[in-house]
Amino acid sequence: MTDTHCPYCALQCGITLESNQQDHGTEPVSLRGRDFETNGGALCRKGYSAATLLDHPERLQSPLLRQPDGSFAPVSWEHALDLVAEKALGIRAESGADALAVFGSGSLTNEKAYQLGKFARLALGTSRIDYNGQFCMSSAAAGTNRAFGLDRGLPFPLADLDSAGMILMLGSNVADTMPPFVRHLAGARENGGLIVVDPRRSATAKLCADNAGWHLQPTPATDLPLLLGLAHVLMAESLADTSYLAARTNGFDSLKASLASWWPERTAQVTGVPAEQIRHTARALAQAASEAKAGGKPVYILTGRGIEQHSNGTDTVTAAINLALLLGLPGTLAGGYGTITGQGNGQGGREHGQKCDQLPGYRKITDPEHRAHVARVWGVDPETIPGPGLPAVELLDALGTPTGPRMLMVHGANPVISAPDASRVIHALSRLDFLVVCDFFLSETAAQADLVLPVLQWAEEEGSMTNLEGRILRRRAALAAPEHARGELWILAQLAQRLDAPGHFSPDAREVFEELKLASAGGLADYSGVRWDDLDAGAAIYWPCPAGTEVKAERGIRNGTPRLFLNGFAHADRRAVLVPVAFQPEPRMSKSAVSLVTGRLLEHYQSGAQTRRVPELVQAAPEPLLEIHPATALAHRIVQGQKVVISNERGEVTARARLTVDARLDTVFLPFHYPDSGTANLLTEAKVDPRSKMPEFKHAHVSLSAVKEEQ
Ligand code: SF4
Repeated sequence: MTDTHCPYCALQCGITLESNQQDHGTEPVSLRGRDFETNGGALCRKGYSAATLLDHPERLQSPLLRQPDGSFAPVSWEHALDLVAEKALGIRAESGADALAVFGSGSLTNEKAYQLGKFARLALGTSRIDYNGQFCMSSAAAGTNRAFGLDRGLPFPLADLDSAGMILMLGSNVADTMPPFVRHLAGARENGGLIVVDPRRSATAKLCADNAGWHLQPTPATDLPLLLGLAHVLMAESLADTSYLAARTNGFDSLKASLASWWPERTAQVTGVPAEQIRHTARALAQAASEAKAGGKPVYILTGRGIEQHSNGTDTVTAAINLALLLGLPGTLAGGYGTITGQGNGQGGREHGQKCDQLPGYRKITDPEHRAHVARVWGVDPETIPGPGLPAVELLDALGTPTGPRMLMVHGANPVISAPDASRVIHALSRLDFLVVCDFFLSETAAQADLVLPVLQWAEEEGSMTNLEGRILRRRAALAAPEHARGELWILAQLAQRLDAPGHFSPDAREVFEELKLASAGGLADYSGVRWDDLDAGAAIYWPCPAGTEVKAERGIRNGTPRLFLNGFAHADRRAVLVPVAFQPEPRMSKSAVSLVTGRLLEHYQSGAQTRRVPELVQAAPEPLLEIHPATALAHRIVQGQKVVISNERGEVTARARLTVDARLDTVFLPFHYPDSGTANLLTEAKVDPRSKMPEFKHAHVSLSAVKEEQ
């Protein structure tokens, strides 16, 4: 029996795998939920069915090379690796190192994320590495760095939510995306204190029914003014915690001035949330926060991608943090602010150097001292480490342009489905001289590649992951890999050798982890005190965990830093920063258009490359459905189940209509997991947040037209 964690989302539910005899047509392992702190033994449908993919018939069995006729043919690993090295060396000699690029993922283990950053910078010599986490956590990271000086999704253990009296949750649908999370909302619901902000009456919003709380249903893309309106009420009614603000924050006076114009009636006009509901919510939060500080139940503000994946995502996160600071919550035991990380290693994946402007341990690639530290660990001159590269959207846009990358290596990502304005991405990939994709299935991106390298799945590899709480976990191998699949650490080590790279590239996860610890030592995300053996023994370790930290592997004991900021924030003066933010309204929609919101379903994960291959999940959610209000459908002459073309200036998508009163009259919803004419990201915009570079995923204007089907 092997204890490990679910391969999908950042909740990283604990599971146990047991090997099966393979001669009865069974799956290679049996999987069951394990009593772990985030999931308490429960799993969602995705987690329960994850083992189905381990011996899936579509699993890639050998390297595949594109042939002159466009088909793929299997080739040996020697041939494949020699070819990658030959192409990289040739392109580098002709066009310079920045003609090579790498695109990573928030699904990679800590060791792979670390090694990928090192490989790009030392073996390829390129600055052009970034990853799909720019599409996920970048606005939250930019907002929390600005306010607190440090970005860790939840700066407290998830289980702290259990005792909450009130939780304000904005833009997150955990009841569908990570159902075992819902158990941590039980305390707030019993207390009548779950407040959900979402333009849809989502499964999470429905948890507010029966006096468990209330649902605010703003117009899409107006979360920022709603937060400004809530903060205005705190100021206008003298409900802010002025002693906390004086003792622990900077910037109060300018924030106060910036809120003056957001009185509830004006906020209601912009957001569609009634003024009385805004007042009621602000007063309830202030009352609960005041009781929490007198020894009552804590109060939390949580955000998700629904408010973060916008071109004003950083400012919206900042407005949520400002609200939490006005209530006097962050860095206390009375509650706090947190963001709910999505991808499996969305937390660790952004700490260890695959981001275009970062080195391991959250070090800055532009800081000479940070560069010198990492160069020492890598055994190279700091001058050999390139400077900052291009963030994801710019990197994808630059592919195949005269000054852009000519060769791209993709690891664990499927940008053809998951990047904004997907047809632009498909076109950009087609401009490349050579595209290499490492994956275990022929994803839509792999299908465009010149060379596909088959890699290991989660239950076949060793490594570590960092969950949404900043807790470091062991991923363990429970079964042997298919004969011709290889781990990415091995692939990178082999390529580094062929490219005559400086430094050492180990194929062994534990050895890479030891090096990662040294590289992170003294950084914000310091892992230097985390011992592999302690992780193996089940110790609960939260970073930062500097060298010398005493760690106990006993149930109920939390090691490292489970709760951040209790003794001060991470800025030099230990104070949080209140940053005034402003709202720029979007251009008006044409009369015939509606707002499109995109998101995830219970049954599928991210681009769906894995879950669309699990029969029970496909059966439950085989195709994209357009959620539309019956009155809106009637106005567009759309009936239940009818095919609808959803279009705008970037593209068109076809989906069947699902009529539901859970939708707003002015808004439709599409899931983004599906390929081809069902790819929702054909409609989303690559316009990015100026600070975080987050694209505008969550809101677009679209037209609808019913398709007349033959009887
Ligand atoms: S997908 Fe997420 S919520 Fe579901 S079992 Fe896996 S880790 Fe848990």
